[in-house]
Amino acid sequence: MSDSIFTKIIKGEIPADKVYEDEHCIAINDINPQAPVHVLVIPKKQIPTLADAQAEDQELLGHLLLTAGTVARQLGVDEAFRLIVNNGEGVGMTVYHLHLHIIAGRELAEGKMVG
Ligand code: 5GP
Repeated sequence: MSDSIFTKIIKGEIPADKVYEDEHCIAINDINPQAPVHVLVIPKKQIPTLADAQAEDQELLGHLLLTAGTVARQLGVDEAFRLIVNNGEGVGMTVYHLHLHIIAGRELAEGKMVG
């Protein structure tokens, strides 16, 4: 599998605005934000889509969810945020490296933002 753009970011080959990093994942500000807060939580392991994840990835998947909560707290949006995982071209997936979108901001309360 060739390196995804996110793997290149993880390796430091492409710059990104990193807001969190640990042994298993990073979180970066989306380059094209769809809301006042739009952060991507990305596993260091390059799993193309959620549907490609295996039983061996169970702990990692749980870690990504916990990290989303940690990052939301860190950014002060833990009272109201939305998580989105796109899976496949049919729902607009563009980067085939599993990632969670953390989306937050006033617009969500008005039901306008669906990510
Ligand atoms: P998807 O539609 O695949 O779920 O979302 C991919 C997201 O990655 C998009 O929101 C897009 O703006 C973001 N993205 C794509 N390339 C880059 C990049 O090089 N840097 C950052 N920070 N975000 C990116």
